[in-house]
Amino acid sequence: MLDMLARVATVAVALVGELVAPTRCVACEERVGPRVLFCTACGVSVMPATVSGRASHAVFDYGGAVATAIVRFKYAGRADLAHRFSAIMAAASALATPDVDLVVPVPLHPRRLVERGFDQAALLGAPIARRLGIPHAPRALLRTRATVPQASLDRDARSANVANAFRCSAPHRVAGRRVLLVDDVRTTGATLSACAEALRTAGAADVRSLVLASRNSLEKSTKPRGVRD
Ligand SMILES: [Zn+2]
Repeated sequence: MLDMLARVATVAVALVGELVAPTRCVACEERVGPRVLFCTACGVSVMPATVSGRASHAVFDYGGAVATAIVRFKYAGRADLAHRFSAIMAAASALATPDVDLVVPVPLHPRRLVERGFDQAALLGAPIARRLGIPHAPRALLRTRATVPQASLDRDARSANVANAFRCSAPHRVAGRRVLLVDDVRTTGATLSACAEALRTAGAADVRSLVLASRNSLEKSTKPRGVRD
């Protein structure tokens, strides 16, 4: 009986929430149903990740409405979208990378943090860890030097750009743990590999990575759809 009352109360809270602040498409603000990320029109351009596996998992291919949503999240002051993205990322992790016990976000260099005002990977990492019921260690990795944005470089330059750019500042938190490394976008995977290397050096038992979107297979068609200023 109490169980049923609790369930009714949960549904009622969700309904009131929808009335007060209806769920909207993360790319275009069209109204959508609860727990839905994209409206029907935007959904046409959304592709599940084509390059994905247990060691390195992506939810979507980067492009279309996914790119629009990520641009809004990172550059248009929509840090609140992290909450929406984290839900689908945690669900993907539960299926694709279930054997993890610590979430570590890819760190942003302090200078870029000052420019942007928030660290997008840590914003995703916190709610993902909460949903998975495991700890979040947002400062376990440090960027030891500034790197230029990976998207501006070719493949070889990307590896060189991030080589030895990361260090584990909390080996005691990482040692023996199976780490889920979290970022918003994977470009070539060079950044994730460099971070994984630093975590393994610090004694991590295993490192898996999880990103919202992977650019790997859609390098030429990543123009965001309908970006608003
Ligand atoms: Zn939409």
